Amino acid sequence: MMPDYGRARERMVDTQIARRGVRDTRVLEAIRQVPREEFVDPGFEEFAYDDGPLPIGANQTISQPYMVALMIEAAGLQPSDRVLEVGAGSGYAAAVMSRIAARVYAIERHEQLVAAAKRRLQKLGYENVELRVGDGTRGWPEAAPFDAILVAAGGPEVPMTLKEELAIGGRLIIPVGLQQFHQTLRKVTRLSETQYEEEDLGGVAFVPLIGEQGWAENGRHSAGNPVPGRSRGRALPEGL
Ligand code: SAM
Repeated sequence: MMPDYGRARERMVDTQIARRGVRDTRVLEAIRQVPREEFVDPGFEEFAYDDGPLPIGANQTISQPYMVALMIEAAGLQPSDRVLEVGAGSGYAAAVMSRIAARVYAIERHEQLVAAAKRRLQKLGYENVELRVGDGTRGWPEAAPFDAILVAAGGPEVPMTLKEELAIGGRLIIPVGLQQFHQTLRKVTRLSETQYEEEDLGGVAFVPLIGEQGWAENGRHSAGNPVPGRSRGRALPEGL
């Protein structure tokens, strides 16, 4: 018998997300609409509504549903917003955001993940999402400025380019920390041309943000400094 994904999704929203304090009705409604089972690897569908991240290939993960909800709520998405996501992975978070915001631009460094995410979004008819392969720490200059930017991987610092691509009043949500796989979720709000406000939202564990303004492939800070306290080769999932 086909599992009842609709019921599993309702239960997930109630028990994993709303009960933990996510109140934004736009976020809860969007998560109720998006079939998460379409975004996991074949064979993992039955775990799609479990309370954790899942593998999506290329050694990457689809984030824990609660973490997706928390980040989108923190970004305060509005229906007219233009949003950038760095680290599109399976395309799930971009799909959820596309049900709230006017337009979503999403960048992912792994080509195979972008190809799979594009297929899923097309199948679901989510036409207001644009996906591309690249290094998201360099932003998406042609589409900037953005009302919100979500980064789904952890970097050693907040990439300057992403701060500069925020509209005035725009919000950037990003895991930041000098240890890979352990960060603080940070919210950066652009108050004016030159002023930003920063807020810490608590501890998280994301896969590393790899790029020009993130970590280098070899685990070093891209600026060239060795990394203190790097946890070598141990991949904790995000959303712990
Ligand atoms: N939001 C995704 C989802 O809903 O499936 C989960 C993304 S996963 C936790 C983080 C992703 O960030 C990985 O797929 C990884 O390849 C990607 N990534 C890491 N550094 C990146 C960069 N500089 N630019 C673009 N993508 C990056």
